[in-house]
Amino acid sequence: MKAFDYAIASNESGALAALERGYRPKASGIDLLDLLKERTAAPDSLVSIADIATLKGIREEDGGIAIGALATLEETGAHAGIRKHFHALAEAAAEAATPQIRARATVGGNICQRPRCWYFRSADFNCLKKGGPTCYAVEGENSFHAVFGNGPCHITHPSNIAPALVAFGAEIVTVAPEDGGRTIRAADFFMLPEDGGIMKENVLKKDELVTEIRLPAAVAGQKSGYVELREKQSFDWPLVSCVAAFNGTKWTIVLGHVAPTPWRAKGSESLLGKAAAITPEIAEKAAAASDRGAKPMSQNAWRLKLVRAAVRRALLLADGKEID
Ligand SMILES: Cc1cc2nc3c(=O)[nH]c(=O)nc-3n(C[C@H](O)[C@H](O)[C@H](O)COP(=O)(O)OP(=O)(O)OC[C@H]3O[C@@H](n4cnc5c(N)ncnc54)[C@H](O)[C@@H]3O)c2cc1C
Ligand code: SF4
Repeated sequence: MKAFDYAIASNESGALAALERGYRPKASGIDLLDLLKERTAAPDSLVSIADIATLKGIREEDGGIAIGALATLEETGAHAGIRKHFHALAEAAAEAATPQIRARATVGGNICQRPRCWYFRSADFNCLKKGGPTCYAVEGENSFHAVFGNGPCHITHPSNIAPALVAFGAEIVTVAPEDGGRTIRAADFFMLPEDGGIMKENVLKKDELVTEIRLPAAVAGQKSGYVELREKQSFDWPLVSCVAAFNGTKWTIVLGHVAPTPWRAKGSESLLGKAAAITPEIAEKAAAASDRGAKPMSQNAWRLKLVRAAVRRALLLADGKEID
């Protein structure tokens, strides 16, 4: 690991001053320290934001819920208001990683964690995402790479909570030294490679800090389901996840871990229309329409079967039905 300067910020303005000088933010460091040890990242300086009180906690306000960037996955998964009104988000947070990791992993760090592509994580491969000449996944091992929205980079976004944030119309609030910060729709936060998201996965500027995630006020009839499918039931990132969220008038279906960003299954959404109740037949049809626009690679078309299973089960769960 390369030596680096280390600062500890006690408030947002201290953190911003450091970011302006080129420091990189560290929350709990679970992903960042991996990147340093793998030599995938070698920053000259880090600033810990872990002690900033204004970034902590989860509060209910104006009917909605504000989740501080330093709130942990454990807190998010256990919060009564999130569990009641944004059930799929609570489940996505509660199923990520291991209890030990969830107790430390922050939501800000979770949505900003870097991809798990094995070529990206290996210092031996200088791929497109690291400024190199090619994507090694195209000719190489791509079983676990993207089947939607991919090219020229083919990562899948690793965050469990990101699809739920998109499905619920969450907003991500930031602060930045130059313009004070902004509020970004979760749907606009994550970037596809073709939209400039090759070297980074989201629209954050280098000196911009996520301060909180805002969930809108819940509406009557709101319901949701979350399903993730993994290789093993102990700790692992999902192979595929699906959030099915009904907002009282329409369904939003968002897939995780199958595209460089959370991915709307628009084929399923249009098939469902305004149908509030989900029968096994409707769930099956919506699942069959979930692969619209898929671009599987040479070794990963099998993931589309998992996509269909996840969509079907998430819809049934959202409507309170049994799943097999
Ligand atoms: C064994 C294992 C299994 C895992 N399984 C899963 C899983 O199933 N699902 C899942 O979603 N995740 C999983 N993870 C990943 C883990 O959840 C993330 O690494 C963690 O959430 C990152 O949070 P952190 O606070 O440690 O972030 P850090 O490592 O501190 O930061 C991560 C990145 O975000 C940036 N950052 C952090 N906070 C902010 C902020 N407020 N504003 C701007 N940038 C910021 C940092 O600069 C860094 O680039 C797993 C990790 C491990 C080790
Ligand atoms: S998928 Fe992206 S991160 Fe992985 S090798 Fe290709 S360019 Fe690099």
